[in-house]
Amino acid sequence: MWQRGRMHASFPVDVDLALVGGGGAASLVLAALDRHGVTGLRVAVVDPVHKRGQDRTWAFWGLPGDDLDPLLSASWSQVDVVTPAGRRVLTLDPLRYAMLRSAPVYDRAAEAEQRLDAVRISAPAGDLHDDGERVVVRDPDGRDLVRAGWVLDSRPRRPKRPGRTSWLQHFRGWWLAADRPTFDPQRAVLMDFRTPQPQRGVSFGYVLPVDDRFALVEYTEFGPALLDDSGYDAALRGYADLLGLDLSALRVREVEDGVIPMTDGPFESRPSPRVVRLGTAGGATRPSTGFTFSAMMRQADQVARALAAGRPPVPAPAYPGRHLWMDAVALRALDRGHVGGVEFFERLFDRNPPERVLRFLDGVTSPAEDLAVMRSSPLLPMTGAVLGDAAGRLRARLRR
Ligand SMILES: Cc1cc2nc3c(=O)[nH]c(=O)nc-3n(C[C@H](O)[C@H](O)[C@H](O)COP(=O)(O)OP(=O)(O)OC[C@H]3O[C@@H](n4cnc5c(N)ncnc54)[C@H](O)[C@@H]3O)c2cc1C
Repeated sequence: MWQRGRMHASFPVDVDLALVGGGGAASLVLAALDRHGVTGLRVAVVDPVHKRGQDRTWAFWGLPGDDLDPLLSASWSQVDVVTPAGRRVLTLDPLRYAMLRSAPVYDRAAEAEQRLDAVRISAPAGDLHDDGERVVVRDPDGRDLVRAGWVLDSRPRRPKRPGRTSWLQHFRGWWLAADRPTFDPQRAVLMDFRTPQPQRGVSFGYVLPVDDRFALVEYTEFGPALLDDSGYDAALRGYADLLGLDLSALRVREVEDGVIPMTDGPFESRPSPRVVRLGTAGGATRPSTGFTFSAMMRQADQVARALAAGRPPVPAPAYPGRHLWMDAVALRALDRGHVGGVEFFERLFDRNPPERVLRFLDGVTSPAEDLAVMRSSPLLPMTGAVLGDAAGRLRARLRR
């Protein structure tokens, strides 16, 4: 185990705030602390890995003009949603779809860490002991590493209880480089459902062009089971064919793989008085889509604002309860075959203005807008899923 940053005598390190897990959620918190000019706060980051470089690409939508804008690789005010029935060009104004690679985010977090004079402990954390006044972070052998006023814990973990539906969003992307103009940098493809659909689940491809010669082309599935290595490559080759790309004339510069949970199993965001869970572990992953970044950004900002004002760093829940219920119903409808995935997303995008859909997926729509979104889904199958979900909840409650 080793440490860097602020000098101190010995373990445990005494701090006001410990970030346990230093990935996406923690990096956004560090950047937000810097943005809100928080000073004098003693911070420690505990993670066996110091995240650096390119290990993921975040795509998300939002209003332009925040302090991450200079870090974006690209952004688009129009995106395409494609189904076998046709191509829709969605104008997102006032929002925009944006692409942020992990390297500049981790660099931004490292700068913030330095300015905050944070202590970095490159060791895995084990149990957390919260006595209501302070939290002791132990290593897996039970040695005390940190004593903190508050802990923000973003280590990956399973939901508190298994979901009634547990799917995965799993994907492979190729960063493709061309020698001549090949991609349209003005338009990203948000979802392209012309890919062959799996027996259970839904698949789509997408394209995020950085310029006319460099783009991320990705194949994604929502479903219960992963593919093997050759399965992802074959699916990507098939999608490249659909796009009319000549792979023999392109170089695969990087490969990006990922698996994100899509489940109605509950993620506990406040396991004890002074421990707050963030990121996927804290429920920031939207169950119906796997999108996580916007909720992590929102919560990081709330945490930093609270600390700047001398308040506890407790953000609002990542999504309203009614959205989690709607997602549970949607996941059930898709999983039990009440509704086809392509039909579900086609109706969502065809019967709502794009801004409403995107704000809904971010969890920030009003109840009236939510009703409009619900009305756009097929009534009978969704009613079946609502009833099935209610029965599932009742059975689970009786078992408990
Ligand atoms: C390849 C990929 C692409 C994605 N793209 C998007 C996207 O386009 N849009 C979107 O909204 N979401 C996306 N996501 C989902 C989500 O935004 C990311 O997974 C995000 O990084 C989640 O942040 P996190 O902090 O919860 O987890 P992570 O970033 O995974 O961080 C968890 C950290 O915990 C650390 N850790 C593990 N065990 C311990 C331990 N015992 N002690 C201390 N630390 C520990 C790990 O080393 C890691 O640094 C993507 C995910 C992946 C994997």
